[in-house]
Amino acid sequence: ATPTAIISGTGLAAKYGLLIKNANALELAQTIKTIFFDKTGTITTGKFELIAFDGNQKALETLYLLESRSNHPLAKSLTKTVSAERFHLTATDKTLLTRVSVSTDSLQNVTEIAGRGVTATIDGQQFYAGNQKLMQDLGLDVPESKDTVIYLANEKQWLATATFGSTIKPEAIDTIQQLKKRKIKTVMLTGDNAHSAQKIQSYVHLDEIKAGLAPEEKAQMIQKTPNAMMVGDGINDAIALASSSVGVAMATGSDIAMEAGDVTVIGGKLNKITTLLDVSDKTMRKIK
Ligand code: ADP
Ligand code: MG
Repeated sequence: ATPTAIISGTGLAAKYGLLIKNANALELAQTIKTIFFDKTGTITTGKFELIAFDGNQKALETLYLLESRSNHPLAKSLTKTVSAERFHLTATDKTLLTRVSVSTDSLQNVTEIAGRGVTATIDGQQFYAGNQKLMQDLGLDVPESKDTVIYLANEKQWLATATFGSTIKPEAIDTIQQLKKRKIKTVMLTGDNAHSAQKIQSYVHLDEIKAGLAPEEKAQMIQKTPNAMMVGDGINDAIALASSSVGVAMATGSDIAMEAGDVTVIGGKLNKITTLLDVSDKTMRKIK
C-alpha cells in the first residue's frame, strides 16, 4: 500500500468520524469476512432503564454502593437512575423505592469480577452484585430471568434483583442488513443471558448469537476466526478488540480517548461500520 493513499484514506475516514489509529486497518478492512459485535453499547445504546426492583430500599442502597465505583454500563445506568432527584419505583412488596444517596464510608475492597459482576465489603459484610453465573459461583439458586438483570447477594443468600430494559440503536437493523448484502457474516457476542440476547436478535437478525460469554471466551472465539473484525464499546472489550484483525471501538460521549482498538468510531453510530468498509474500498482502489 502506498503511504499517500493511506494518508488520504485516513483523512477521509476522519471526516466521517472514524479515527484510524492503526495504519494497516484500512487495508485489513478489505479482508474481513466475519464481524463480531458486542451487545451492550454496540448493538444497544448502552443505556439501560431500570424497570423493576425485587427487593427493599436497604437492598437498593447496598446495590448502589457496590456499583458506585464500576464503569460497566449496567452499573452506570443503575447509579444514575437511583440517585436522580425524581427517582421512584415500586418494589415487589409494593413499598416505594426512593432516591438513594448513601455514604461510601462503609464501602471497602471493591473488586470487579470480569464478565460476572462486582463484590465489596460493606460494614464488614461481603456482598456480590452480578449475573446468574456469579450467583452459581456462590452456590445460590436465583429465579432465571428473561431480561438483563443484576442479582444482589451476600455469601449466604440472594437478596434482590434489579431488572433492566435496553434499547437497540436505531441504525442497527439496517446496518446488519447492509453487511449481509456484502456477504459478511455477522455475529453477536455477549456476556448477558441467552433470553436477553435472543430478544435483541429477534429485531436485528444477525447470522449468529452467542450469549453468556466471559471476556476471554469472546477473545478466544475471535482468535479462532480468520479475517475477523470486532466491534465493541472499548470499556471491557479490550482483549476482544486486540484479538481481531481489525478492532473497532465505539466511542459514545466522554470516552473518546480510548486506547483499545485500531479504529475509533466517534459518536458510536453503528452504520459507520459500512462507512469504514466504503472508505477502505476507495483507499485500496487508489493503491491498486
Ligand atoms: P456484555 O458487554 O456483553 O454485557 P460484559 O463482559 O461487559 O459483557 O459483562 C458480562 C456480564 O457480566 C454482564 O451482562 C453482566 O451481567 C455482568 N456484569 C459485568 N459487570 C457488572 C457490574 N458491574 N454489575 C453487574 N453485572 C455486571
Ligand atoms: Mg461490554
